[in-house]
Amino acid sequence: MRDRLRRLWLRLVAYGALEPRFRSGRWRIRAEALPRLRPYWERQQAAYEKARRLFEEVNYCRECTLGCCSGAFNRFTVYDHVSHVVAGLTAAPPWSYCLHPFASYRCNRVDDGLCPFFVPGKGCGLPYEVRPATCVWWICARMQKEFDATRLRELAAIRRMIDEAHTGYARVLLIGGMERAPR
Ligand code: SF4
Repeated sequence: MRDRLRRLWLRLVAYGALEPRFRSGRWRIRAEALPRLRPYWERQQAAYEKARRLFEEVNYCRECTLGCCSGAFNRFTVYDHVSHVVAGLTAAPPWSYCLHPFASYRCNRVDDGLCPFFVPGKGCGLPYEVRPATCVWWICARMQKEFDATRLRELAAIRRMIDEAHTGYARVLLIGGMERAPR
């Protein structure tokens, strides 16, 4: 229940406060906020490393051509944007961060109905460090069915770490972590 409430809060903050500011182009992350965001980014990266180990052990995506990665929209959210900025990515994807699933189908559409980062026979072509958090967080119905209790517990811990990192991002940004961008 607590986890669900946290996720709801994260979505409300992203959708109602953070995303509109970034999208307007009139706001940006304050440089002084980066050291405060860094520990949360490290927590997220630690979660991604756990996920990488878990999913490399059971990579159904290699055999999969449809499903989670299909759908003509990207999965980046405003929290991925923050993560990319903290990581120092200068060539972030063109502005197309959307709060999944709201309106995301309208953003960054691709023509063939498959995410452009999907590599047949491999799965996701993006390194974990920059992969959309949704894609790390999510598992398909087959995994959900076949994962044993230990794996599901591991996954729950990974999800919690990602959500905690995003909560940290949101708090820092809401409390003085953003500034007006010069025109
Ligand atoms: S970013 Fe990677 S995991 Fe996410 S939809 Fe695209 S190919 Fe799939």
